[in-house]
Amino acid sequence: MRGETFDGGENALQAKARAGRAMVSARAKAMWEEYRKSNSAGDVPARCPKRLVLELLGCDPTDVAERREKGQAVLNMLCLTSRIQTIPFRVVPGRPSYDKGYYDYDKDAGLGRSVTVYNSPSMSGEPVDGESFLETLCHEFCHHWDVQALKLKDCYHTPGFYRRVENLYRKLTS
Ligand SMILES: [Zn+2]
Repeated sequence: MRGETFDGGENALQAKARAGRAMVSARAKAMWEEYRKSNSAGDVPARCPKRLVLELLGCDPTDVAERREKGQAVLNMLCLTSRIQTIPFRVVPGRPSYDKGYYDYDKDAGLGRSVTVYNSPSMSGEPVDGESFLETLCHEFCHHWDVQALKLKDCYHTPGFYRRVENLYRKLTS
C-alpha cells in the first residue's frame, strides 16, 4: 500500500525528526564532555597573601561596603595568580534568593562577568560569618576559573568542582 514515504525512504517529517534527534544528542554529548572536563580537572593554581584573607575574615559582617572592598582584593589576587581575567565583585545586602551567591557568566547580559555574594542569605536575616562568606567567594571564583581556564560554556557542580572549591578554601585558611 502506498503511504507517505517514497520508495521505502523517509518522508519530510521523519527526516525532520531524525535531524532533531541528532541535534539533541550532539548537544547532550557536548554537555557530557564539559561535565567530564569539569569533573576531572585538578586544583586551581590560585594563591592569595594571608594578610588579605585575614582582612576579609576580620570584616564587620554588617559592613557590606568593607566586605565588598576586601573581597575584591582577594578575588583580584585569585584571578591574577591563576592568570585569568579579573572581574568585579559585588556584595548584595538582604536576602534576594535562596542562593548564597552567583557567578554571572552571561556575555549577552551586557554587564560583563561578575561574582556576587549575598551578605545575609539565611531566613533569620543575619549576615553570614567571615568563613561562610569566603567559602561562597571561593565557590563563585571556581566557576569563573572553569569558564576561563577550562573554557567551559556553562557552570557545573561536579564532584571535581566541589573538590576544587574545598581545596582552595583550605589553602586560603590554613
Ligand atoms: Zn555554583
